[in-house]
Amino acid sequence: MSEEPKHFIAQIVEADIANGLPPSHVHTRFPPEPNGCLHIGHAKAICLDFGTAMQYGGKCNLRFDDTNPTKEDTRFVDAIQEDIKWLGFDWNGGMYYASDYFEKLYSLAEELILNGKAYVCTLSSEEFKEYRGVPGEPGKPSPHRDRPVQESLDLFRRMRAGEFEEGQYVLRAKIDMASPNMHMRDPAIYRIKKDFHHRTGNAWCIYPMYDFAHCLSDAIEGITHSLCTLEFDVHRPLYDWFVENTSIIKTLEIQPRQYEFARLNLTYTMMSKRKLQQLVEEKVVDDWDDPRMPTIAGMRRRGYTAKAIRAFCEDIGITKFNSLTDFALLEYHLRQDLNKTALRRMAVFDPIEVEIENWQEGETDWLDAVNNPEDESAGSRKIPFSKHIFIERDDFMENPPNKYFRLKPNGEVRLRYAYLLTCKDVIKNEKGEIVKIIGVIDRASRGGNAPDGRKVKGTIHWVDASNCVKADAMIYDKLFTKADMGDLAEGEDFKDYLNPQSLVKKTMYAEPSVKELKPGIPVQFERVAYFMADSKSFKDGVLAFNRTVTLKDSFSK
Ligand code: ATP
Ligand code: MG
Ligand code: MG
Repeated sequence: MSEEPKHFIAQIVEADIANGLPPSHVHTRFPPEPNGCLHIGHAKAICLDFGTAMQYGGKCNLRFDDTNPTKEDTRFVDAIQEDIKWLGFDWNGGMYYASDYFEKLYSLAEELILNGKAYVCTLSSEEFKEYRGVPGEPGKPSPHRDRPVQESLDLFRRMRAGEFEEGQYVLRAKIDMASPNMHMRDPAIYRIKKDFHHRTGNAWCIYPMYDFAHCLSDAIEGITHSLCTLEFDVHRPLYDWFVENTSIIKTLEIQPRQYEFARLNLTYTMMSKRKLQQLVEEKVVDDWDDPRMPTIAGMRRRGYTAKAIRAFCEDIGITKFNSLTDFALLEYHLRQDLNKTALRRMAVFDPIEVEIENWQEGETDWLDAVNNPEDESAGSRKIPFSKHIFIERDDFMENPPNKYFRLKPNGEVRLRYAYLLTCKDVIKNEKGEIVKIIGVIDRASRGGNAPDGRKVKGTIHWVDASNCVKADAMIYDKLFTKADMGDLAEGEDFKDYLNPQSLVKKTMYAEPSVKELKPGIPVQFERVAYFMADSKSFKDGVLAFNRTVTLKDSFSK
């Protein structure tokens, strides 16, 4: 058990338990709208919603909040389930759709009309706003506010029957046109929308508004703690009003309550689904799972692990204050996990050839290399060594400064898992550029150390030029150049801040065993970065790797 102080949501739940709520009755829900793929912000909500239920032995539902037919798609319903499972959570309370409750919600709306608590209003949307007024001054009642119950009921039924055009009528709750909370000034609860719905098809042409549907869906499912982001705090009185002013209240053992927490904002990251959708539609990125996207699918494809994302969510905690979290903190948790789990392999990205003078042409030595120095159970593999090898161009300097421990003329360096190598000569082209290094190895140093115990400080990676494989490396960087993407000046477009260098494709030369790697297996190309085989292009002999994250931490904890 962690000794960290409990966040305020946990404190609320525990106070409820102290007041008699059986822990197993703690019931939360995660309510995504299936209009896009989940992003890292949703991961925070998922960890909180599912995590809270798990912590107390309660239940968490997955509910698709599909009350807006225009933007929703079955594709996202499937993708969302996959992402939640991948993150390591399970909807032990069941999976539901708000659209399953359309009939029930409709009957509760009729009930409000019959009780004089809702009316059909004919104001245009401009008039609606004008009558609602401004904060600090009471609004004006709609001329239809006192429409007789039977007339509203008849109009509402005809709205459902499809007799009217979109925007012609809305059903409004009759609450308080003078309320200081604008959301309480007779909010719309049903509107006409003649769109195809991904599940109910054309069965409905009126759809409930979020404020009406969400709280009542919670009540229908027996949710106890309905956790949402801070901007909904002004909606809370409405949440309670609908529950308390419909007959649903009589069926409840425990009244659901809404609690708000700060959403996750990350530096250099755009989190609005609408804007992410735009990037997909305009082909700025490959798709929702482009490895540069902050989506769970994109991060998974890039090589992020579920464990790292959960550790990050745990670390940022749950508060009531909006803030901007440093992306480097997420990368810190990612490196913590990858350092322990990633297989080590060798690949050279900017090769220069080294010819080994004292090695036979055609002679190959197969050396042992450990798969993960952090995990003995990962075993080892064989890597080939022959007369021609590649090292990184910048691991050699002809005129090095003091304390340069990599390869230099007459200097000695360790070839990782192989031999000690001394540079004897360089071969240059007519422009004076080095095209080849001539070296000798100490055969007695096989495995990496000389029997005489002489100290060789530098160790570099390399690959066998005759037996290596070529692969594509996708080097990713931030998608945006601005740290606070939530703080755009008026008239600025978020796409003004796209990073033109967010993807650079390179060719790399890797040891042959990388052919056996697969999407889902993290790998560290030693001294370079963490990578993962790309789930879309790594197949049929095509080797392609996504750079997950660099090795170096820019974050200090
Ligand atoms: P977006 O604005 O990105 O479209 P949304 O809130 O409309 O997000 P939903 O599908 O409705 O997306 O979100 C499902 C749940 O995830 C909600 O409870 C919402 O509060 C939560 N959520 C969404 N974005 C974040 C975020 N950045 N941080 C924490 N929770 C979030
Ligand atoms: Mg939403
Ligand atoms: Mg949204």
